[in-house]
Amino acid sequence: MKRMISKFLEFSSSNEKSTLILDREIQLDQYCNIDLGIGNRLIQSFDLTKPESCQRYIDKVLAENKATVAYGGYLEKRNLYADKASFSKLGSDRNIHLGIDFWARSETPVVTPVTGKVHSFKNNKVAGDYGPTIILKHELDELTFHTLYGHLSLDSILDIEIGQEFEKGTVLGRLGTTEINVNYAPHLHFQIVIDIEGFEGDYPGVCSEDTLQFYSKNCPDPNLLLKMPL
Ligand SMILES: [Zn+2]
Repeated sequence: MKRMISKFLEFSSSNEKSTLILDREIQLDQYCNIDLGIGNRLIQSFDLTKPESCQRYIDKVLAENKATVAYGGYLEKRNLYADKASFSKLGSDRNIHLGIDFWARSETPVVTPVTGKVHSFKNNKVAGDYGPTIILKHELDELTFHTLYGHLSLDSILDIEIGQEFEKGTVLGRLGTTEINVNYAPHLHFQIVIDIEGFEGDYPGVCSEDTLQFYSKNCPDPNLLLKMPL
């Protein structure tokens, strides 16, 4: 895996330009950062485990920044999952976020950031999970890695096939609503996974402190690929 990680770093550093992952009509100056980490005192009066309350905070950040998309969250420690039983096991809370989230309106198109083929897709329906999810596989020379797109609409996984190619810049799917995505304010969860470890249509999107060393390597910062201003 070490070799793949260094190959990935090599590949991602070959491009210096920002790659948009949502609707191309939304320009880069319409994006702003959002901090949902436990260290952010501004979120203490919002119960982020409730989608309406989380959306209120997102709307506040978007309004303050005159933005359409709020994004961030790689390796952010969050309280977002505190009420989701599937996220905590005795003594090891999984609350460290392994992707970047892009919070925007439902139905916003998701644009393929790097050409790839559908590895797998699935509707992960358990509350607090991803809802409709697509994983793309990217094979470039000696480098193989995967990208995961979570919280999509049901339509996004209706007409796709394993092995289908999506070229960079083409629409891969759309953001799901709170009912479909399962109980979050609408957003895209975007994550890079080097070794998919046999998972299909799913891969852990959060980890615990004691597994962070492995996951932070196997799931490098998605912004290495996207080059969004942080
Ligand atoms: Zn996420």
